[in-house]
Amino acid sequence: MKTPKDTKLLRVLFSEDQIRRRVEDLARQISSDYADKGEVLLVGVLKGAFIFLADLCRRMTVPRRVDFIAVSSYGDRTVSSGNVRLVLDLRGDIRGRHVLVVEDIVDTGSTLAYLLDLLRLRGPASVRTCAFLRKEKGGPPVDYVGFEVADEWVVGYGLDYADDYRTLPHIAILQVNR
Ligand code: 5GP
Repeated sequence: MKTPKDTKLLRVLFSEDQIRRRVEDLARQISSDYADKGEVLLVGVLKGAFIFLADLCRRMTVPRRVDFIAVSSYGDRTVSSGNVRLVLDLRGDIRGRHVLVVEDIVDTGSTLAYLLDLLRLRGPASVRTCAFLRKEKGGPPVDYVGFEVADEWVVGYGLDYADDYRTLPHIAILQVNR
């Protein structure tokens, strides 16, 4: 298993200030798009999305509730196994509700594809997707994206490497020595 001593923070990619301004923009846009929909249920994908979701939901202005789901595919590695597993399910029923899935980062898109299949089977009124970061690899369409990033391992603002670096206030690029 890789440990943080095998890693090195290379540089800051997005500062706290850049993040705050981009999250404000996203919250404004989402609030405007959902203005006539009643209530939106924000489904945060644990653990990576917890800080983004906390900031996003506090800046939104439409009626909203929060629930969480957790999946696993990477373990302590930086390459997706492509084999997504449900680790924690939602507490509530989503039938007839407007669901917005909130992810930290979309890489290959297999996590998001898995979640969309799972949630759509439960009869929501709508399902949209929001990712704080998206790697420039293609993957499924995402309705709301904070920033596009290159194919490097990024940490901070909720994103980890082997459960480390999550609490950095900014997004940084991590070098992983193999
Ligand atoms: P996907 O299924 O789209 O390939 O991967 C999505 C998940 O992989 C994300 O929710 C995140 O947990 C993890 N992931 C992918 N790329 C990165 C990255 O650069 N940094 C971190 N910390 N997690 C990543």
